[in-house]
Amino acid sequence: MENERKPIEVEVASPTGFCFGVKRAIESLEKCIGESAASDGAGKVYSIGMPIHNPQEVARLSRKGLVVVERIEDVPSGAGAFVRAHGVHPSVKKALLERCCGRVTDATCPFVKNAQEKAALLAKEGYSVLVLGDPNHPEVQAIVGCAGEDVSVASSLSEVKGVGKKDRLGVISQTTQKKEFLGAASEVLAPAVRELRIFNTICGATTQRQDAVRKITGSVDGLIVVGGKNSANTAKLVEIARSRNCDTLWIEHSGELDGRWFAGKARIGIAAGASTPDWLIEELKIALETSQVSRGMEGYDGRNDE
Ligand code: SF4
Repeated sequence: MENERKPIEVEVASPTGFCFGVKRAIESLEKCIGESAASDGAGKVYSIGMPIHNPQEVARLSRKGLVVVERIEDVPSGAGAFVRAHGVHPSVKKALLERCCGRVTDATCPFVKNAQEKAALLAKEGYSVLVLGDPNHPEVQAIVGCAGEDVSVASSLSEVKGVGKKDRLGVISQTTQKKEFLGAASEVLAPAVRELRIFNTICGATTQRQDAVRKITGSVDGLIVVGGKNSANTAKLVEIARSRNCDTLWIEHSGELDGRWFAGKARIGIAAGASTPDWLIEELKIALETSQVSRGMEGYDGRNDE
């Protein structure tokens, strides 16, 4: 007897996908590529590191003229360069401006810029600076570069406790941190620091996308999070959904769907990291809605079987 084949119900979290800063940066990059083509005919624009933590979007931009390099020395002198939404260490920006004769498009997100400026302000006013975040993340490294000599980074509460007694301490947060971490860190620091100054530099876009995931987990049988495996904010969405016991699948594109995961699920949620372009979300939605994935059926490979 044939399986009963019913379409999957799909709900997309809101808001989800590209945040303001990444959307703005990608638009700047595309404009910059166009201008580069008009000025030197080559249309190449160089970015130190991935301009966005999404391999599929980087591939699309590379076809247009983006060139991702690892070192400043890999950028040809006088070429066009691009500073991504995460920003770069001030020394990198300075070196790029010199190498590219000023042809640098700085797409640092205004919220990241704000964190950098607050770090610089704290350093100027004589505070030790503590950045809450991942020390290996480029955004944190750029903020650290603005915070003077007396700066440290903590990525966990135990590291915050390790800061010890301080006279004057200023705290900045990586924009993608959880507000709970900032709250807990503040509680730990308050009794140990004579003068504590905290700037909440967590970006609203991150919180909103995390809240949207918390909300949607209550109304679906499983959640598909689409986003780069190298994207910290996408990883956080997955972590939040799993902590709420929601069966969560993390994919970069719809071609990775595995039919076994759909067993027993009637209603599927979609959420996406702030670095996931709309076209990948739409592609996934169409793949789910147009495929008659039977509940409990194995072997679905993500392709429309009609
Ligand atoms: S998550 Fe926030 S801070 Fe980061 S790029 Fe997007 S809007 Fe800017």
